[in-house]
Amino acid sequence: MASDMVPIVVVIGSSHVDLVARASRLPVKGETLPGVAFEMHAGGKGGNQAAACARSGARTRFLGRLGRDAFADRLIAALESAGVDLSWLSRDDSAGTGCSTVLTGEDGDYASIIVPGSSMLLTANHVRDMADAFSACGAVIGQLEINPATTAAALEAGRRAGAVTILNAAPAPASPDSLPATLLQATDVLVVNRVEGAMLLGQDPETDESDPQRTVDALQRRWECETVIMTLGERGLVARVGERTITLPAHPVIPVDTIGAGDAFTGTLAASLASEMAINEAIRRANAAGAIAVTRAGGHDAAPTALEVDAFLANAG
Ligand code: ADP
Repeated sequence: MASDMVPIVVVIGSSHVDLVARASRLPVKGETLPGVAFEMHAGGKGGNQAAACARSGARTRFLGRLGRDAFADRLIAALESAGVDLSWLSRDDSAGTGCSTVLTGEDGDYASIIVPGSSMLLTANHVRDMADAFSACGAVIGQLEINPATTAAALEAGRRAGAVTILNAAPAPASPDSLPATLLQATDVLVVNRVEGAMLLGQDPETDESDPQRTVDALQRRWECETVIMTLGERGLVARVGERTITLPAHPVIPVDTIGAGDAFTGTLAASLASEMAINEAIRRANAAGAIAVTRAGGHDAAPTALEVDAFLANAG
């Protein structure tokens, strides 16, 4: 890609409306509580990462499936305002648009139910019909909120087009065997948090407290990905890139809302890699984007622009 060209990223995944009700605490089973606030946000890991990627300066093509309802209208408006190209967005006539009902307590506890609706009806055949979406793309991102065989088809199409393929294995799979082998085979860069990393190794994240460096090593060996990045929240990250290990501390910030940090991280990483930036520099920018995102509320809106990342890193010294 010539350096004056805008990088192109394809993001495949979910776009959901988050319905968030806040109360002083979570209700117990069978209880109805008076709440203190209600908010509606554009969310879903696919939509959040597409918004982050577009804000980070890449021409971003989103492959998702929405219904034909008011939630879909809301999501389309939010993705468009983030600058995402929706030419390949598909609509389903029978299923409702995906949504997530979230209950939060003031102590930070939360519980949620995700109903993926139309997102789950995006198939590998749809992806094959959208081959033109992958032309000239520099990176492809997928996650695990839609059918994994669909995500695998998109990463394979990206690889055929010469793009860097990124799998953010979130939410955590039930077991490593629940994923199609083709999905990890088509992945160049695997991004996980601590829980997702443990689950991909068949470990119990509650009881197996293994060292993050050993975990990324084991993930790289098991899944044969060139790069494995494990994000560690306020502890930063550890990555294995080929034979090298990279560790970065988190930037010291005052967190407002940690939802969306991982999506800002992955979207910024993809936009950076699509512009042919070296992987260590792309990881450094993603680490800054994650830190900025925790200082802001919201899924789509939390991610910073490229200029904001530049300014943040310049300040961080
Ligand atoms: P996820 O939301 O997927 O669980 P993490 O919580 O690991 O992801 O966060 C992703 C990245 O966002 C981290 O690697 C880090 O760069 C940044 N980040 C998250 N929490 C904080 C924090 N409290 N302070 C600074 N940076 C953070």
